[in-house]
Amino acid sequence: MQPSAKKPPIIWINLLVLGIPPLVALTIVPWYGFTHGYDLYEWVWFLVLITFCEMSITAGYHRLWSHKAYQAHPILRFIFALGGACALQNNCMVWAADHRRHHRYVDDNEKDPYSAGLGFWYSHFGWMIREYDSTKEDLSNVGDLFKDPILVWQKKYYVHLTLLMNLGLPILIGYLHGDIWGSLLLLGFLRLVLSQHFTYLINSAAHMWGSRQYDPKQTARDNGFIAFLTYGEGYHNYHHTFAWDYRNGIKWYHYDPTKWLIKTCSWLKLTYNLRACSVWRQERARLDAQYHHALAKCEKVLHPAKWRQQLEAEYQKLTQTMNHWAEVRQQWYESKSRALHETLHEFDAEHLKQRYEELKIRLRTQRRSWENLLQHIAGNTLPQTA
Ligand SMILES: [Zn+2]
Ligand SMILES: [Zn+2]
Repeated sequence: MQPSAKKPPIIWINLLVLGIPPLVALTIVPWYGFTHGYDLYEWVWFLVLITFCEMSITAGYHRLWSHKAYQAHPILRFIFALGGACALQNNCMVWAADHRRHHRYVDDNEKDPYSAGLGFWYSHFGWMIREYDSTKEDLSNVGDLFKDPILVWQKKYYVHLTLLMNLGLPILIGYLHGDIWGSLLLLGFLRLVLSQHFTYLINSAAHMWGSRQYDPKQTARDNGFIAFLTYGEGYHNYHHTFAWDYRNGIKWYHYDPTKWLIKTCSWLKLTYNLRACSVWRQERARLDAQYHHALAKCEKVLHPAKWRQQLEAEYQKLTQTMNHWAEVRQQWYESKSRALHETLHEFDAEHLKQRYEELKIRLRTQRRSWENLLQHIAGNTLPQTA
C-alpha cells in the first residue's frame, strides 16, 4: 500500500465511531462544563474509568494476550475483557492479531497494519478508517486466544459489552449522582477519546520521537513522556526488542504502572509465570546497539580504520567480560542452592562469589573506557559536507 496510490474505500462505521466522540469532546463537553460544571465525584470516576480502560488494554490486550508475557487468573481476565470493551478498541482477538503482525512486520509498509513509515496520522488513526490490505481482518495468528473462553465470550458479545460499558455504566453512575448528562459527557465521551488517543500515541509518536538504545534498526523508540500518558507503554524500543517481557520500563524509576499492577497481582496470586529479560541480555542488546552506532560514526572521522580497530578491540573485550560475568553469576546463584544440599563445599561457593565480585569491578572499568571511546569517536566526527 502506497500513500500516493488510489485510496481504498472509507469504512464509514469506523469513521463515525472514531470521529463523533472527539467532536463531542471538543465542543459539548467544555460547553457543559462552563454552563453546568463537573464536580469532584465525576472527576474521580473519570480517573477510575480511564485507568480501567487503559490498563485493560496495556496489561490485558497487550502484555497478557498479545505477547503472553505472563498468565492471569480468570477473574482478572474477565475484568480486562470488560475494560477492553470499554476502551472501544475492537475485540481482543482482532486487536492482538493486528498487534502481533505489527511486531512481526514492523516498519514494513505493506504488512505492518500501522506502519509508522506511512506517516504520523496514518499510524495514529488513519489505518482504521479505510479498507487497507494490511488491516483486513485475519485471525490466523491468534489461534491460541480462541482457547480462552473469556475472549470467545467477549468476541461474541462485543457490541453489547461496548454499549453497556460506554453508555450503560456512565448513565448508571450519573443516575446515582443525579447528573446523567454530565456523567455521560465526562465518563462516556471525554474518557473514551482521551484513552483511545493516548493508546494511539504508542503506534504513532512512540515510533517517531525518543531514543533507540536496544535496537536502532527499527522505528520504535523509548519515550518517558509517552510512557506517562500510556501507563508505561512508552518504552517502546525496549518493548519491540523484548516483547515477551512483562515490563516495558525496566529500571525501578521508569514510570510503568502496568508493570507494577502485574507484579502486585502476582503477590495476590492473580498473575503468575511473569517473564522478564535478564540484565545480561538487556546489556548485550544495548552494547550491540552502541557498537553499530559507533561503527557508522567511524566512517566520518579521520583515520577510520584506526578507530574501527580500536572499537572492535574494546567491543570484543567487553562482550567477553560480560559473558564471563553472566556465567559466573549463574554458577554462583546455583552454588547457593546446592550449598544448601551440601553437595558443594562452602569454600567453592565463597570462591565463586569472589570471582563474581572481581568480574563486576572489571566490567565497570571496561564499561567506563568503552563510554570514553564512544565519546571520543563522537567528538571526532567530521562535519558532514554536501
Ligand atoms: Zn510498535
Ligand atoms: Zn507489543
